[in-house]
Amino acid sequence: MKACTQCGRCCTNPHFMLTMLATVEDVGRWYLQERWDILQYVEAPLLDLWISPTTGDEIARCPFVRKRRGQDIYDRRIYETRPTVCQNYPLNVSHMKAVDCDMLEDGDTNVDVRRFMARGGTETNQK
Ligand code: SF4
Repeated sequence: MKACTQCGRCCTNPHFMLTMLATVEDVGRWYLQERWDILQYVEAPLLDLWISPTTGDEIARCPFVRKRRGQDIYDRRIYETRPTVCQNYPLNVSHMKAVDCDMLEDGDTNVDVRRFMARGGTETNQK
């Protein structure tokens, strides 16, 4: 396992993004923080993410991720208060392979992923 390279493949992966839900704790935190910019993308009652506030359609990439101009690096603008599902990424090797995650190295196992997450996970390189 290596540090996150900010390749953006997780935050722009349609399958991952279209299956995401917020938790009750996420929503409560965003209310307390008055993060209406985030809350507008959450659909009750399932707390579905990310739902377009204008069309009501699901959005296939995180609306808060931005590619740096002229670079293959993506910045997340809600890093400090990102949803729990993002904090818990990656769950296992399959999860990482599904998004073609740059952190995965040859020979990595689920034990390596768990150890990596226990040490702070993807956040070695701040997104
Ligand atoms: S977690 Fe993996 S897929 Fe996501 S930006 Fe970092 S290296 Fe890329």
